[in-house]
Amino acid sequence: MQFPQALETVLQTLERMRDETGCRPCASRTVLDALKQIAPSHKIEIMEGHAPSCPKNNLGADSAAPSKMEKTDKLAAVQERVRPCTKCPNLASSRTQTVFGVGNPDSDIMFVGEAPGADEDAQGEPFVGRAGQLLTKIIKAMGFPREEVYIANVLKCRPDVPAGSFGNRPPTPGEMQTCRPYLMEQIDIIKPKVIVALGAVAVEGLLGTRAPMRELRGRWDSFNGTPLMITYHPAYLLRNQSPSEKRKVWEDMMLVLERLEKPISEKQRNYFL
Ligand code: URA
Repeated sequence: MQFPQALETVLQTLERMRDETGCRPCASRTVLDALKQIAPSHKIEIMEGHAPSCPKNNLGADSAAPSKMEKTDKLAAVQERVRPCTKCPNLASSRTQTVFGVGNPDSDIMFVGEAPGADEDAQGEPFVGRAGQLLTKIIKAMGFPREEVYIANVLKCRPDVPAGSFGNRPPTPGEMQTCRPYLMEQIDIIKPKVIVALGAVAVEGLLGTRAPMRELRGRWDSFNGTPLMITYHPAYLLRNQSPSEKRKVWEDMMLVLERLEKPISEKQRNYFL
């Protein structure tokens, strides 16, 4: 194809995107000037900079941002590597399956818990047991369907417990260190605007720091430049039913909504979990 034809095709595609999606493709000043020079007769209406109504699929300034489909493919490739992982032989031999993560690969918000429990190990999905149901309720109260956020754990395997015993055990520092690269890859692909760390183990897995939750929660931290909100694990709220503890988690979630510039209704402001 000759250059003028190729240029015509690009311009027609951009115009079609604008007309079909209602989003005006964005371009940097440099790209815009270059386009105007090589196509002076064309009525170029490409907007400079970032169009807030078209968040993640613009051209130009954001053209390097991977699409949802690319993120889905990349996550699937990591999941394929995680599935047969035997880096922790004790976990590999005791698990039913690995539990990778669930949700929208292009989500603005990512919740990180500690490790699958018995229900998650059986179903292959994080946060589906009692704690998970409470997390889902919190997510819905924030105004998101569960499928719209991304949920993962520091560990992808259920920590093994002696045969015949009930309950869960926390991951060891060694297990967390071994599994951490997978979580790093997930975060790197999803590129959420906010990460929510659920409980002290998630904080340790993400930041490598240990401190009492009452000192950690409710303030912004950073995970490699991504804003990180630390809050109580929903299992803690199931053990401690005090309304004041539940309210603290909800206040942390309102900070997250504010950070994401989501409107908070009066009903939400007065909400108690
Ligand atoms: N607790 C977690 O931290 N993660 C789960 O997936 C379930 C319970």
